[in-house]
Formats: sequence, structure tokens, C-alpha cells
Amino acid sequence: MWHNRKMSGKEEIKIARTAGFCWGVKRAMDIAMDTANNADGPVYTHGPLIHNPQVIETLEGKDIFALEDATTLDHGTVIIRTHGVTPQVRRRLKEKGLTINDATCPLVAKVQGIIKKHAAKGFSTIIIGDLGHAEVVGLLGFADGKGHVVARVEEVAGLPQMDSVCVVAQTTCDITKYKAIVEAIQARFPNADITNTICDATDERQNEVLRLAGEVDLLIVVGGKSSANTARLAAIARETGVGVSLVETETELDPAEILKYQRIGITAGASTPTWMIERVRDRVAGIREGRKGPARGLLARLAEAWVVSNLHLGAGAGLLTLANAMLAGYEPGWRPAAVAAMYIFSMHVLNQLNDLQTFKHNEPEKTRFYQRWGRLMGVLAGLSAVMGLALAAYLDASAALIYTMATFMGLAYTVKWFPKTRIIRIHRLKDIPASKDIFAGLGWAAVTVAMPAMSAPGDVSFPAAAVAFVFAFTMVYIRSVLSDIRDIRGDRVVGRETIPILIGITGSKTFLAMVTTGLACMLVSAAYSGLVGPFAYALLLSIGYTAMYLWLYHRRTIDRGLAFDLVVDGVFHFTGLLAITWLLIS
Ligand code: SF4
Repeated sequence: MWHNRKMSGKEEIKIARTAGFCWGVKRAMDIAMDTANNADGPVYTHGPLIHNPQVIETLEGKDIFALEDATTLDHGTVIIRTHGVTPQVRRRLKEKGLTINDATCPLVAKVQGIIKKHAAKGFSTIIIGDLGHAEVVGLLGFADGKGHVVARVEEVAGLPQMDSVCVVAQTTCDITKYKAIVEAIQARFPNADITNTICDATDERQNEVLRLAGEVDLLIVVGGKSSANTARLAAIARETGVGVSLVETETELDPAEILKYQRIGITAGASTPTWMIERVRDRVAGIREGRKGPARGLLARLAEAWVVSNLHLGAGAGLLTLANAMLAGYEPGWRPAAVAAMYIFSMHVLNQLNDLQTFKHNEPEKTRFYQRWGRLMGVLAGLSAVMGLALAAYLDASAALIYTMATFMGLAYTVKWFPKTRIIRIHRLKDIPASKDIFAGLGWAAVTVAMPAMSAPGDVSFPAAAVAFVFAFTMVYIRSVLSDIRDIRGDRVVGRETIPILIGITGSKTFLAMVTTGLACMLVSAAYSGLVGPFAYALLLSIGYTAMYLWLYHRRTIDRGLAFDLVVDGVFHFTGLLAITWLLIS
């Protein structure tokens, strides 16, 4: 499994841009999740949907079960996996009266179409691929009994004599092997009609492995043991001489071996979920941190705890409260800021403890943290909520009332109010499509603007407070929708309908760009018209920070993990520090 190669350069971990689900697998998972979320009974797949045991386990949690042969069923819903099936199997599924949801990858369907078209004209078919692989089995079904599978150059000589030949490849075929076999076929069948049907996702993945192998000392390939494309990535990397480790989960990593290498790359097969890649990266980083001595290891763990425990977010809420006061023109005070910090900390912790199922897929590091420290965090969040209420009551009765209402709404969000029936599909507030971002924005705006404004000494301009309310709401709303884009896969697993699920990732990014621009315009026009003071112009820097993190996310520089939370939630810290600086210099 391990090969040694000379180590060089500084210590780093590189993750392949193409690592994780290809678009065909993403599409199949989306079809499966949509089917499960709308079906009344269990759903079956004809063969495992993808070759990854952890994903299969997740699917079973959604009542999606893999059958070796779904034609044995008498009723129910069957999903055809990305590899497709033979026309004969499809016919049998239809004859049984089963509901078929077809997740055949369109690129595989295209190859099926090429074979079918040629078979109708009397062509024989040569498929370059692995005999017995589900995709190849499906493709053979379209060849009208005149299909041959070739896996190695030497096998070309054993093919029968054929007049008209059509040549295609398994979509995940190794490109080097494909070229060599095509050369041999052309020598034997000069008039063969050849179409390179290796899919772009495979091609890009293999090319990136070759590139990455030249930049690292060890390449970790993450994926299911039975995944052909994962095994192929590992084989391609091994041929370059780089150290290679093929693992299914992070528990298979050998710390002693990891520590031998400076530059480590991580790639993954097309059927490996992002959360598994994350776990492997975290484990590699953890092994290295442990070696740096107890002090640095402790520091790294403290930094992680600061973010995943929501202390980072709570502190951000406190700082945002100061900025909102400056924007609305009333005196910023530490007490309202502390109340907001305690509220945001407690609500986020309690809702996350209540919703660990979603976090399991979206933020594995948070799940691990809450599984370990859940009881302590629950106690701290409860104490924080009570102290926040006491401090709000000390400020003003109206502040206590707003705090109580916001707490009620925050806790009520994940509570099941009605049983789910065929007619009523919404049984919690969080089941209302795209509601999470609006509730989050309102909760933050209530405690960082409405509550401090109500308890502020002296007169508070209602229009100015309204501008601050919209500012706080929108800043939180942008952060929340971006988190939804990041979490789209996990949200599909648990059946949550967020904006990215409703309008797509590209549509959501465009929407966020428009909202950010709109917020900048609102600040400028509010300041220009005299509704708020000149501090509104300074807040354009916060809008610039927001635009920067949206861009960094788009470039996949901060696509998830601690970096995402630190940078994205850092906008509230930045905004608060801007307010403090403004206060000091004005
Ligand atoms: Fe489709 Fe290519 Fe993914 Fe296979 S690897 S499912 S052909 S996109």
C-alpha cells in the first residue's frame, strides 16, 4: 500500500479540486433523495446506487435499500443507478408495474445510444472496459448479442473476425489503457467506427491525479474498496512512483506513515462523499498537530473549539450589535452586546444539538464535537440563555420581552408541532421552504438591533433603526444562504428545502451577489438622504468583506471546514471592530 519517495518542500495538505462526487453521482443522489422525500414507502435501487459503504448506510437511513436484482419486487419504487441497466432489465421492471426513477448518468445513456444505433445497422460492438462491471453489463444489453469486452491489449488478438465494428469505452476507463487498446483495434479492424466515450469527469480526475502526484510525496486516495474508479485513480498514481494510500475511511490512516511525508495530497473517487474527504483531511491534520508537541496541539484544538462551539459566532453577534448601534445613531453599550452574544451562542448550540442528523452530513467536525461535549454544551447554552434573559431584564422590560420572544422563536424552529401526514408535509417551522435563512436573519436583527434600540437611553430614530435592522438581517441572511450552498448535499439527505435546492447553486450565487449589491446601495442611499450618519459609508468595507468571502467561496479557497466558519463569520467581528475604530477616531 505504501511506497517511499524522497520528501521535499514544506509541510502541506493539498486536496484535489475534482475530489468527491462527479456530477453524474450528484445527480443520482439528488434523484434518490427527492424520491425518498416524496415516497410513502421504502425505495429500492437496482444494485448499490454508488460503490461507497458510508453512502449506502446514509441511504438506508432514508429508507433507500439496495437490491442485487430489483426485478424480484412486486411493487414499489426502483431507482436505476448511474451505471444504467440493459433494455431487458428495464422492460422487466416495467412489466412488474414498478415505479421507475431513472438515475442513469446521461453520459452512460449516450454510450448506450451509440451502441444501439450501430447495432440496428448490423455493427458488432467492442467495449473497452471491465467485463462484469455494472455499466459494461448494461452496455452489452444494447449490442444485440454482438458485443465484446476488451480489458487488455492482448485480448484484441482473441476477438473474432468482424466486418463492421463500433468501438466505445466504459466511461471510467483509464485513458492510457484506452489509447493502447484502440491502437491494437485499429491495426486489426482498420474501418472500425471509434468513439472515445470516457467521460470528462473521469478524464479531469485522472489528469489531476497525474499532476498532483508530481507535487506531493504521498497521495491518499479516498473511496470505497469496490469502487472501480477509485482503484483506478490509485493505480494511475502508483505508476508515477509517488507514495499512495488507498483508504475507505480516516480510521485506516497509519499515523506513523503519515508523519514520514511532508507534502500530502488527497483525492477521491467519483462516489466518495465530501464529508469523508473532510474527515480524512482532519485526521491527517490532527496526526501532524499531535506531533508538534502538546502546546501547539492544544492551541489548535482550542482554535477548533472556539469555532465549532459557536463562541466565535456569539462574539461576532456582540460586535455586530455595537456596529448596528453606531449605524442607527444610538449609544453602543456592552450590556446589549453581551445579551446578543449570549442569545446567539445559546440558540445556535441548542438548535445544533437538536439537529445533529443534518450536521452529520454537512459539518462532520461539529458533529464529533457535539457528540463528545454535547452535555456540557447543553448546560452552557442553557446558562447562557438564562443569563441573557436576566441581563435583558436588567436593561429594560421591553428588552426582556423581545429576548423572550426571540428565544421562543429560536427554540420553536426545530420543534415538531404537527405529525407528518400525506397532506400536511410541514410539521416544523424549519420544514417551510427557505425559511431557515429568514428566521436566522430575523433572530439576529431582533437581538442586535430591536432589543438594544428599545432599551437605549434617549430618543432613537425609527427610520435609522429600521436601516440598521435591514443591515443586520441582510448580513446574516447572506451568510446563511452561503452556508446552504455549502450544505446542499446534506440538506438533500435530510429533505430540507433551502434556496440552493430550490433555485440551484449558480442561481443562488447570483442571488447573493444581487443581495450584496442591494445592501451596499441601501447603505449609500440611507446615508446620502440623511437617514443615517456617515458611519454607513464605513460599513461599505463590511460589504467589501462579504463580497470577498463570496468570491473566496466561489474559488473554493474556503469551501468548508474551520476556514469557512472563521472567514465567513469573521465578517461580524470585522464589522464590530470597524465600529470600535470609528468610535475611537471620531
Ligand atoms: Fe457520469 Fe462520468 Fe460520473 Fe460516471 S463518472 S456517473 S459517466 S459523470
